[in-house]
Amino acid sequence: MHIAIIGAGLSGLTCARRLQDQGHCVTVYEKSHAVSGRMSTRQTDFGGFDHGAQYFTASSAAFKADVAAWTKAGWVAPWKGKFVALDHGKSTAAGKSGNRHVGVPGMRSVGVHLAQGLDVRTGQQVGQIERIETGKGEQWLLAVHCDTVPIAASAGPFDAVIVAVPADQATTLLSVVPAFAKAAGKALLVPCWTLMAAFQDSLELGYDGAWVSNSRLSWLAHDASKPGRRPGEHWIGQASAAWSIEHLEDEPDRVREKLLKAFHEATGSQVQPVFATVHRWRYSKAATPLKDDCLWNKKLRIGACGDWFSAGLDGAGKIENAYLSGAALAALIA
Ligand SMILES: Cc1cc2nc3c(=O)[nH]c(=O)nc-3n(C[C@H](O)[C@H](O)[C@H](O)COP(=O)(O)OP(=O)(O)OC[C@H]3O[C@@H](n4cnc5c(N)ncnc54)[C@H](O)[C@@H]3O)c2cc1C
Repeated sequence: MHIAIIGAGLSGLTCARRLQDQGHCVTVYEKSHAVSGRMSTRQTDFGGFDHGAQYFTASSAAFKADVAAWTKAGWVAPWKGKFVALDHGKSTAAGKSGNRHVGVPGMRSVGVHLAQGLDVRTGQQVGQIERIETGKGEQWLLAVHCDTVPIAASAGPFDAVIVAVPADQATTLLSVVPAFAKAAGKALLVPCWTLMAAFQDSLELGYDGAWVSNSRLSWLAHDASKPGRRPGEHWIGQASAAWSIEHLEDEPDRVREKLLKAFHEATGSQVQPVFATVHRWRYSKAATPLKDDCLWNKKLRIGACGDWFSAGLDGAGKIENAYLSGAALAALIA
């Protein structure tokens, strides 16, 4: 089959790799100019910042096996940092234990490696999916918008189409199958404002990652403490879901000032950054995930995967969910 996959995050790329290995002809459409989606790394003059996903854990046998292979290949490495819980600038407890893995030299490296050998069209946003009658029966056409061309182009026809984007964006694309759009509409994602700050001198905080209570921030990470990073004092601060929802439409400059203030309060350090910026993730993690592995309609040959499916795990909204969901959909199609 000739299969179109919309979205080059971990779920779409995992599904694409497996379908291509099964002998299908796969084309991946990605609206950004780079692959990896929310597992991304922002490059700055002060080094890279993992401003999306921070690290991942592996609990299923399938993901553990691939993480071991990626580690052997040098795409990922364990992050053996010191983790604490913080409240009003004080460390209240040691952080949760667990095997944390990160992409090397940045989180986006996993997606970059998975995309190798795949036909991935970046800078191409799919606006609509349409079912058409062709000489081969019913097939799918995509309306694709590209920055450099003012009108949408048609791509296809495809025998099957897979939507591998956050649930909120999937509802629009899946409107051709109302039951799927309705299901996606139940798994909406919460936003996350993220602070990236670089400091000239060490903050000497004594930890590399912290869960924060009673603050606008809920997580802090010393990015440069991860393996394979450029040395330096680069920190990430993630605002809580509640604060991000309340301030979703605020001006970035105002958000930066508020999150920097929260950073100083949470860490107790008054050292001023030499660089600070913020990124707004409109969709970060699924608040109410679907219990299934993925969606697939065999008759119409349309499906969806992503981290908004539990895919056999207790929760969702994590890298392992995205991987398992993409793999499950490829297995169903096989
Ligand atoms: C701030 C933040 C922190 C996080 N922290 C962690 C963490 O510590 N650990 C963890 O396990 N998980 C974490 N996550 C979640 C993790 O990043 C996701 O679970 C995982 O990356 C989702 O992969 P995905 O393929 O399902 O979706 P995505 O990575 O979102 O991929 C979807 C892709 O589809 C593209 N796309 C969307 N619409 C279209 C369209 N119309 N046409 C073409 N392309 C389109 C997008 O550009 C994107 O590249 C975090 C996420 C965020 C945002």
